[in-house]
Amino acid sequence: MLQSAIILVIWDKLMKRYLLYINGKETPSSSGEWIASINPYTTEPWAEIPRGNAEDANRAVEAASQAFEEGAWSQMRPTERGHLLRKVGDRIAEEAERLAKIEVQDNGKLLSEMGKQVAYLPEFYYYYGGLCDKVEGSIIPIDKPNMHNFKYYEPLGVCVAITAWNSPLLLATWKIAPALAAGNTVILKPSEHASASSLEFVKLFEEVGFPPGVVNVVTGFGSEVGAALVTHPKVAKVSFTGGEAGGRKVGELAASDFTHVTLELGGKSPNIVFPDADLQNAVKGVISGIFAATGQTCIAGSRLIVHEEIHDEFVEALIAFAKKAQLGDPLLPTTQVGPIATKDQYGKVLEYINIAKEEGATCVLGGKPGKGWFIEPTIFTDVSNTMRIAREEVFGPVLSVLKFKDEEEAVAIANDSNYGLAAGLWTQDTTRILTLPRKLKAGTVWVNTYRVVSFLSPVGGYKHSGIGRENGKDAIFSYLQTKSVWINTETEVPDPFAMRL
Ligand code: NAD
Repeated sequence: MLQSAIILVIWDKLMKRYLLYINGKETPSSSGEWIASINPYTTEPWAEIPRGNAEDANRAVEAASQAFEEGAWSQMRPTERGHLLRKVGDRIAEEAERLAKIEVQDNGKLLSEMGKQVAYLPEFYYYYGGLCDKVEGSIIPIDKPNMHNFKYYEPLGVCVAITAWNSPLLLATWKIAPALAAGNTVILKPSEHASASSLEFVKLFEEVGFPPGVVNVVTGFGSEVGAALVTHPKVAKVSFTGGEAGGRKVGELAASDFTHVTLELGGKSPNIVFPDADLQNAVKGVISGIFAATGQTCIAGSRLIVHEEIHDEFVEALIAFAKKAQLGDPLLPTTQVGPIATKDQYGKVLEYINIAKEEGATCVLGGKPGKGWFIEPTIFTDVSNTMRIAREEVFGPVLSVLKFKDEEEAVAIANDSNYGLAAGLWTQDTTRILTLPRKLKAGTVWVNTYRVVSFLSPVGGYKHSGIGRENGKDAIFSYLQTKSVWINTETEVPDPFAMRL
């Protein structure tokens, strides 16, 4: 008895406990309950985050709503808002390494990737900071006599950002930076598997002078605190990044109250290799498309569609490359493939490997679990596009290889999917380079490259991969609404019964 009490006290002292961040203050959850943050490399808990609930969601919405209505941020001159966004970009740059290491502890991705990703975040705040005072209304040359009409843009109000675990701060930034630039207030609900970096990161905003309540973070499960945020009547917009099932649920909940919504969901992206491609480059592109981040990216090029003439040679080259991949500690610069992020996800990937075997696909590489939550890079050939391994998102290091005879068949296989997030194309034929991107039903098409993203270029999906676009100039408009103002320039209002549309 005494022994377990002592263990509990020591546990409490050792375990880092994070707090919710509402209205500029760190605060425990109303329930007083915690969720363990597990390090996927050690498979041990390293921190605890608050298990927020509807009451916490309500507190955060009230704070964000009050901050919005009081106008310290929403009515601030856009140029000044821009200055603050740039300042927060500077602070993120200073803290990038620390934040990236926290992310690695939570999601097991390589520090070599997360370090670069977090170090790149300031660009988004500089870019959207610069856009703040460039959102211009216009005068409309209206077709009515004695009427003056103009339009301008106003922020929506309280915006909720719900994110997945694979790139917590990047995904949050895709939402927060344009939402804030537009003058909204924000509540971030990170994944229950990787919340720690968001709870650290949020403090930087107030440090540089953001008014309290403008950026808030609540943590907990999607079905509890997440759903309570989505259905709160004072929430104007929800921007969600996650899986198809969660996206569908959030979309339905948001629709019931006409809440604006952006959905960034999963994919089963094709990577098409033609015989005229630079095959060495194509091998590198296909490998990074599926094995980088241990396949745990929405844009994973999980279906390789390769011309039958080069199929065998290409698969051999892939195997030779992939089997040299170094699995190990994500913090080490020599590691190339990290663990799977959660125990459930690990089980799911192994289940898909079994399904693929049962469906008749041939496992030519990997297919076996390693120590802890590691899964070796895995390649299946003899895959047909009707198999589950070709249709469903695995979110792990598993590549399905399909063959094609001609261009038409390659496009047909690529487009025969419920998803449409991204596609890769490897060819040196100029006509194909120019014509095929138009034929592929995907939000992003990469030609002779894969996995490149920038704050300047839109991302988003066709079909079940989502609704709306993030990044680039247009993203700010998804956090704004248009107002039309009519001014009568005549001194006398016309006879009311004579007024017509
Ligand atoms: P997930 O759908 O399980 O969870 C995502 C987030 O949604 C979490 O914060 C979760 O708590 C919350 N959530 C779940 N159900 C909810 C509900 N009913 N109401 C409110 N919130 C809810 O996804 P995940 O496992 O964290 O992430 C993996 C998925 O994310 C993959 O499908 C991947 O393709 C996708 N993803 C997409 C993009 C993109 O930009 N398109 C980027 C990264 C990841």
